Amino acid sequence: MARPSRKRTALLLYGILLVLPTVVLGGLHWHQLWLDYQHALSNLPADAARAADRLVEQIRGPLQERLERAQDLGFDEFAPLRAEPPRGQNDTAPQWQTTALAGSAPEAGVLGWFSADLDRILNAEDRRDSEPPPPYFIETGSQDAEGRARIRAVAESAVRHLIAIGFMERTTRLRGYRIEALPWQRIAAHLAQFDPNTASPRPIPDCLGEHWRRLAGTGEEVVVSEFFLEILNGPEGQPVALATRRVLPEDKPRSDDDLPECLSDMRRDFNLLQGMVLDLDWLLRTLPRESAEHLGPLEHYLPPGEAQKSPGTDIVHHVNLLAALGFAGDVSGLGQRAVLAVEVEQRALDRGFRAQTMRFLGVAAMLVLSLGTGLGLLLFSVNRELERAERTRNFVAAVTHELRTPLSTIALHIEMLMEGWAQSPERQQEYYLRIARETQRLSTLVERVLEKSRLSEAVSNPMDAGRERVGDLSKAVEAVRPLLAAADARGGLDVEYDLAADLPPVRINQESITSIVVNLVENARKYAPVRTGGEPILVRTGAEGHQVWLEVLDRGPGVPEAERQRVFEAFYRIGNETTRTSTGTGLGLHLVDLQARALGGRAWVEDRPGGGSVFKVQLPAHG
Ligand code: ADP
Repeated sequence: MARPSRKRTALLLYGILLVLPTVVLGGLHWHQLWLDYQHALSNLPADAARAADRLVEQIRGPLQERLERAQDLGFDEFAPLRAEPPRGQNDTAPQWQTTALAGSAPEAGVLGWFSADLDRILNAEDRRDSEPPPPYFIETGSQDAEGRARIRAVAESAVRHLIAIGFMERTTRLRGYRIEALPWQRIAAHLAQFDPNTASPRPIPDCLGEHWRRLAGTGEEVVVSEFFLEILNGPEGQPVALATRRVLPEDKPRSDDDLPECLSDMRRDFNLLQGMVLDLDWLLRTLPRESAEHLGPLEHYLPPGEAQKSPGTDIVHHVNLLAALGFAGDVSGLGQRAVLAVEVEQRALDRGFRAQTMRFLGVAAMLVLSLGTGLGLLLFSVNRELERAERTRNFVAAVTHELRTPLSTIALHIEMLMEGWAQSPERQQEYYLRIARETQRLSTLVERVLEKSRLSEAVSNPMDAGRERVGDLSKAVEAVRPLLAAADARGGLDVEYDLAADLPPVRINQESITSIVVNLVENARKYAPVRTGGEPILVRTGAEGHQVWLEVLDRGPGVPEAERQRVFEAFYRIGNETTRTSTGTGLGLHLVDLQARALGGRAWVEDRPGGGSVFKVQLPAHG
C-alpha cells in the first residue's frame, strides 16, 4: 500500500511543481503569440492607411517645393520679360529683361506658367467691346509652339472657369496671402506685356514709355495669395491640374489718381491670375513611384491598374491622391488614374507567425522531452528508493527471524539442561549438539554480513583483495565436497559432480570458491530439494575459450525471467516475508556475485532445459 501512495505523492509534487507551471506558462505564451498575431492582423488596414498617408506626404514634398519656389517668385516673373527696377531718376524708358522662368528649361512636373489679367477680360466683356478682348495670358515654360498653344488653351479655360464661379467663391480661394508694396513701374511693365505685339486699343508700351519717369516712386499695396490647387476640365474636356494664385490691389482703385488715363485704366483692371499647369503624369505616376522607396519592406505601392491584381490575402488601402494632396475640383473625373493604392503584406505576418509557432513547438517538444526524462528519472529513483527500503525491511525481518530462531532454540536447550530435563548423557549430548548447531547458524549469519561488506570493498577496490592464487577450479570445487556432504543428512547423496580435468588455471581463492559452491548448493537444497529417487543437484565445471565456468543445476521451480538480475542484489528475496516459507536473508546469491566479481568474473542464472535453473559463475582464464 505504501508504494503506490508514495509514488502518487511524488508524481503529484512533480506535476504541481514542474509540469503545471510549464503548461501554464507555455499556454500563456502561446495565447500571447496568438493575440499578438490577431492584433497585428487587425492592425493591417490601419497600417496600410498609415503607409498610404506617409506616401502621400512623401509625394507632397516635391509638389510643395515647386509651389514654394513659385510663391517666392515676384509677380512679374510670370512673363517673358520684366522691367528692370529703375537705376536712377534719369531712366526714361523701361529696361526689359528676360525673366527667370522664360530663360530656364521647364522643370519636371510643370508644363508651363501663365499670368492673366482677369478684370481686363471681365471689363472687356462688360463693355461689350466690339473689339475682341486683348490676349490676357503669358505662357512660358514650353519650348515648342504646340506646347505653348496647349498651355495657352489650358490657361484660357482656367480664366473662364474663374470668371464663371462668381465673386464669393473667388474670394474664398484667397485663404493665405501676403501684402506686398509693388512699384508701379513694375506693375505697368508686367501688364504692358499682355499684348506687346498686336494692335491694342490701349497702346500701353507707348504710354508706358511716355510716363515711365512719372511712375517712379509710386506704388501699390498688393495682395499676393497662396497657390490654390485644382483640377479643371481642359479645352478638350480632359482633366488638367493647375496651381493658381491671385495678385490684386488691396484697396479699391481710386479714381482721383494722378496717373495718366492710359495707365489709370490699367490700374483699374489690375487683377491677375497667375499659375502653373502641372504635369498629371508626374503627379500620379512619377512621384508615387519615386516616393515608394520610402515605404517599409512589407509595404508596396501598387501603380494604377495593378491594385486589382493583388492577391486577396494582402491588405490594400486606396486613396484619391489628388484629393489627399488638396486639389479642389472634380478629382473623381480621373477615375482609377488618381487612385493611390498601398498594399501591406499579410503573407509576411503569416510567415512570421508560422515561424514563431514552429519555434514555440520546438521549445515545447524540448520541454516535453526534458519533463518526460525528468519524470522517468524521478520514477526510477523513487522505485529504487522504495526497493531499497523494502529490501532493508526484508533484511530486518529476515535477520530478526534468523537471529530469533537460533537464539530461542539455544536459550530453550540451555534452560532444559539447567533444569535437568535431560538426564541421560545421550540426551544431554543431543542438546549440546543442537546448541552448537544453532550457534554455528548464528555465526554463519554474522559471517555473511561481514563477508558482504568485506567483498563489497574488494569489488570496488580490487587492489586490496590479496589472498588469491592461480589454480585449478575443479580442484577447488572438489575441496568443498566433504563440507557439503557433512551438511546433508544423507551424506551428500543429493549432489552429483561433473568436474572437468585440465582446466585452464584461474585466479582463485579457496574461501571464495567454497562460499560460491556452498551458497549455490544450499540454495538448490532449499528451493529445489531432491526427492527420493529424483534427479540430484549437479555441480559442473568446464571451459569455453578463454573462460572457465562453474555451474550448479537443479530441477526446482526456476527463477522467473523478471527476477533473474535482482536475485543477485543484496537482501533481495523473491516474494515477500509474509508469504515466504523458506528462511534466508537475501544475501546468498549477492555473496556469490560479489565473490565472482572479486575474482574478475561474473555470475548469473539461466533456465535449465527440461525445468529448473542453472546458476553459472564464469571466471577468466589466467594469463
Ligand atoms: P535467500 O536464499 O537467503 O533468500 P539468496 O540470495 O540466496 O537469498 O536467494 C535470493 C532468492 O533467489 C531467493 O529468495 C529465492 O527466491 C531465489 N533462489 C535462489 N536460488 C534458487 C534456486 N536454486 N531455485 C529457485 N529460486 C532460487
